[in-house]
Amino acid sequence: MMYYNYLFTWNTTTKLVINFACACAILANFWYDYYNQEQTEVIFFHGNQSQCDFHRNKTTLLNYLNSECPMCNVYKIIGWLNETKKTLDICMYSLNSELLTNAIIDAHKRGVHVRIIVDEDNIRSTWKFGTMGIAKRVKLMQFNAKMLMHHKFIIIDNKKVILGSMNWTVNAVRRNWENVFLTNKYQIVDPFRHEFKTIWKQFDQ
Ligand SMILES: [Zn+2]
Repeated sequence: MMYYNYLFTWNTTTKLVINFACACAILANFWYDYYNQEQTEVIFFHGNQSQCDFHRNKTTLLNYLNSECPMCNVYKIIGWLNETKKTLDICMYSLNSELLTNAIIDAHKRGVHVRIIVDEDNIRSTWKFGTMGIAKRVKLMQFNAKMLMHHKFIIIDNKKVILGSMNWTVNAVRRNWENVFLTNKYQIVDPFRHEFKTIWKQFDQ
């Protein structure tokens, strides 16, 4: 009888330990997945100006509803920028879209450390950043008049990168066929971080 009692107690304890360990493993797994979730998103602009009903009626709609509407696509990108917490490194040949410029300035205003690299070709359209005290580096003509700083990439919090064909300009948004791609994949983000660092030093005037 003593033996059976002992066995029963031991088994219950073991079961409890195993259940507790399983619960911990499930929680740890959930936590790992949550913090290491892969994020990949693709947007296409389709070379047209046909906006959705909301944007045709000039409604500021912050939700991304219609992938055919260029304004919905722009607000999708703004949504990505609005999630920035610490750093925003922008390397963009041309940037004159007011909506996207304002999203960058908003990030700066809420304490995000913003750095911008542009080409001298488009320096006028980015004057606003300088007046706001946003750090800017410019590929000057004298550096190499024939070669363009033609990149279009943005690094968010050193963890995500936005890539694609699109300069952040009004024309690109309204008229062009363009692709924009966001990923948090380390193997892609890391080389872009290094590239930004290199160009930032290179254009240190
Ligand atoms: Zn729309």
